[in-house]
Amino acid sequence: MTIESGMPRYPASWHPYPEVTMLASHGAEGRETRRIVMGTHTGTHVDAPRHFVPNGKTIDNLNLDIFVGLACVLDFHYVSPNQAINAGMVRNSLGDRYPERVLFNFAWEENKDSPSYYSGCPYLTEDAVDFLLDNGCRLIGLDTPMPDNPHDSSMPIHKKLLGNNVPIVEGLVNLQSLVEYNSFMLVVAPLKVREGDGAPARVFATVND
Ligand SMILES: [Zn+2]
Repeated sequence: MTIESGMPRYPASWHPYPEVTMLASHGAEGRETRRIVMGTHTGTHVDAPRHFVPNGKTIDNLNLDIFVGLACVLDFHYVSPNQAINAGMVRNSLGDRYPERVLFNFAWEENKDSPSYYSGCPYLTEDAVDFLLDNGCRLIGLDTPMPDNPHDSSMPIHKKLLGNNVPIVEGLVNLQSLVEYNSFMLVVAPLKVREGDGAPARVFATVND
């Protein structure tokens, strides 16, 4: 997701409104420099275990090999708002692919400028996550802002994934362009924030045509 003023922000009092503003310009200071204001969970970002696990691993201490390697995208662009994705749906969509890094396409980025981006997103059930963990999943990504039912404030899916040291990549975009590929090389590069509970990330894939 592009980092810019007015980008989506989790609607909680502790999240600042994202701002990208000019500090220096070519006309005055002979260079351009900008100031960025954003929370650690804004835009495309990674949740580290510390986000929901007291004393959990922080973003600066996660092994980077989790973030680079073969991945696949499961295409659920057809689901309804607030629809639950269960283990059977994940198993069917995955087929014979090995789910070490799994991204979920809900075509949800279309809603990113609406309040329903946060309140209406589809979500994973506990049995879906158990299925992925039991089959070797080490990283999950979604084009929604959270893997949990947005109306369940206890956040069981966050806690199960992060409690198993599985980082969550949230707020992905452009997943539709990857659904035609069986698998691809994924690179997730979260900023190295000291004791970071999460961090903004640049995320991209390379494919073999
Ligand atoms: Zn987050």
